[in-house]
Amino acid sequence: MTKIYPGATPVVALDKASFTIHRGELVAIVGPSGSGKSTLLQVMGTLDRPTSGTVRIVGDDVAKMSDRALAGLRATRIGFVFQQFFLAQHATALENVADGLLYSCVRQGARLAAAAEALARVGLSHRVDHRPPELSGGERQRVAIARALVGNPAIVLADEPTGNLDSVSGVAIFKLLTELNAEGTTIIMITHDRELAARLPRRIEVLDGQIVADVSSAEQPLSTERHLP
Ligand code: ADP
Repeated sequence: MTKIYPGATPVVALDKASFTIHRGELVAIVGPSGSGKSTLLQVMGTLDRPTSGTVRIVGDDVAKMSDRALAGLRATRIGFVFQQFFLAQHATALENVADGLLYSCVRQGARLAAAAEALARVGLSHRVDHRPPELSGGERQRVAIARALVGNPAIVLADEPTGNLDSVSGVAIFKLLTELNAEGTTIIMITHDRELAARLPRRIEVLDGQIVADVSSAEQPLSTERHLP
C-alpha cells in the first residue's frame, strides 16, 4: 500500500509497503518518529484508505466494502488500543469496556457481562466500578485493552500502548499483550521501545514509509520476567 497525504507539499507516508500477517501472530512495528507507523496502523485498521494498493482483512479486500460494512468489520474483527487510552472519564471501567460492544448487536445485559469477563482477563476485576481518574496509567491501559478485546476481535492493533506509561507499567502491559496473544489473539503493536520489540517473534521495521526489515525469530522466548518487579 501507498499512502500520500495531499497538500501543498504532499507527504508520501507509506511507499509500497507490503506484507502479510497471519492469524495468531504477535508483531512489532518499529521505526523512528515520522516513519509512517501510525499511518500503517490506520490503513491496516481501515480507519484510513490507502492512496493505492490493497488491504485484505480476513480475506476481504476492504476497498470493495461499503462504509457500513467497514464499520461492521471494525466493530467485530478489530480491536484498537491507543497510547492516550481514549476512555470516557465519567464512565466506570465496566461501562467503558461495555462501550466496545456498542456497535455490535449485543444487548446491554450481555454487554456488561462480557465487559466484566474482559476486565477479568486483564486482571482488573477489583476495579470495575472505578472511573479513569481513579485508576493508574497502567490500569487505564488495561481497561482500554479490555475494551479492545471485549468483542473477541481477530486482530488487536495497538499504537504505542506503553508510550504513556512508566517502564514497570509498560512492561506489565507488554506482558499482558503477549499473554493475550498466547491465548490466540493476533496482535500488531507499534512500539518505540526497541528492547521490548526485540522480544517479539516478528518485527517489521519502517523507514520513510518503506518496510526496510521484516524479521522473524520464532525461537525467541517471549518471557518478560527479567523486567518485572
Ligand atoms: P509515525 O507514526 O511513524 O510517527 P506517521 O504515520 O504519523 O509516522 O507519519 C508519517 C508521515 O506522514 C510524517 O511525515 C507525518 O508528518 C505525515 N502525516 C501524518 N499524518 C498526516 C496528515 N493527516 N496529513 C499530512 N501529513 C501527515
